[in-house]
Amino acid sequence: MAMDHLEIPLSRPDIGPAEEEAVLSALRSGRLSMGPWVERFETAVAGRAGRHHAVAVNSGTGGLDLVLRALGIGPGDEVITTPFSFIASANCILYSGATPVFVDICPKSLNMDPEKMERAITRKTRAIVAVETFGNPEWMDAYESIAARHEVALIEDCCEALGTTHKGRPCGSFGRAGVFGFYPNKQITTGEGGMIVTDDHRLAELCRSMRNQGRALGWRPGESVQPSGAGGAPTGSWLHHERLGFNFRMAEINAALGVAQMSRLDEIVKKRRAVAEAYLERLGTNADLILPTLSPESRMSWFVFVVRLATTYTREERDRVVASLRRHDLGAGDYFPCIHLQPFYRERFGFREGMFPIAESVSQRTIALPFYNTLDRRDIEIVSQTLELMIKRENLKRG
Ligand SMILES: *Cc1c(COP(=O)(O)O)cnc(C)c1O
Repeated sequence: MAMDHLEIPLSRPDIGPAEEEAVLSALRSGRLSMGPWVERFETAVAGRAGRHHAVAVNSGTGGLDLVLRALGIGPGDEVITTPFSFIASANCILYSGATPVFVDICPKSLNMDPEKMERAITRKTRAIVAVETFGNPEWMDAYESIAARHEVALIEDCCEALGTTHKGRPCGSFGRAGVFGFYPNKQITTGEGGMIVTDDHRLAELCRSMRNQGRALGWRPGESVQPSGAGGAPTGSWLHHERLGFNFRMAEINAALGVAQMSRLDEIVKKRRAVAEAYLERLGTNADLILPTLSPESRMSWFVFVVRLATTYTREERDRVVASLRRHDLGAGDYFPCIHLQPFYRERFGFREGMFPIAESVSQRTIALPFYNTLDRRDIEIVSQTLELMIKRENLKRG
């Protein structure tokens, strides 16, 4: 997901005067960590996700890692997830020492097939990490019922879905906990950053402690030192560590950027919807392309705009189309190669081609097109015309 410097890049953050002002204010305050901006940002995201608690962290990946650890998931446990996603949604399972169990996807939503998910549950299953692929929230409520029926934890990897609703419910509100990500290609950015959201007070406090070197539950900056415990540093002090923790804290500058972005979220989402609709209208009649399909019950905030070539096209043809778009100074990506076919997953777990046929078939024909708030009609026309021309060229080569 590297940012490129093309004429029309794949993605571009929307940063304006509100963001500059907030970041400068954080910078000038002299308090660069554990201050009011992080708390303000947590309140804003919790509100948007309809949750009681939010814990800011320094990446979406770190947020997923903390949630799995806080739920006590570890070696011997199985965690169900999708093979068609960004690598972090499966890697978080490996960090905890648990075993990832992949479930094939539905060809329409590109999310895990609920029936296959239910069949994959065993006595060892402890959790499901469910992703809104490319921001599509379909089946989240179905996963919630399955998780409840089998008493396993649903963790929503909503890193691609801030601002999306499904059946009137905001993403981040499904399951035990949700995790957002704020890398620069997401709907809003903090540069780097993530946010855990949950209604579970104990889980939120555990995540807070673990992001902050395992300091005592309920520890807050500047808290007075309480009487000493059995040994070591006094309970509640800066150097008292109750559990294995990490440094996953978000800095104030990043949180200030996040607060300004959150205040503009509605405007940002509106622009993204308009760009997506313009693409859908422009490319909708092209028989060589399969466009994103939405359930009428979903209101998407649009993470990326990914089309795929019809089933008659090969991976080589797709790769050539992506490469030629880039040669024409247009951003294009092959989101996502299947996780189970990544070298270290093959080596460690023996995954092979053919194990998740729908994910594999979709994955070799996807093309992510340039997608960001300020993309205008002219840009969309340039991208669409070039894409159509490159597809035509592949057809001519076949003779
Ligand atoms: C972006 C993303 C993440 C988190 O990424 P970070 O770069 O660590 O913030 C996790 N899962 C998915 C599905 C993502 O798209």
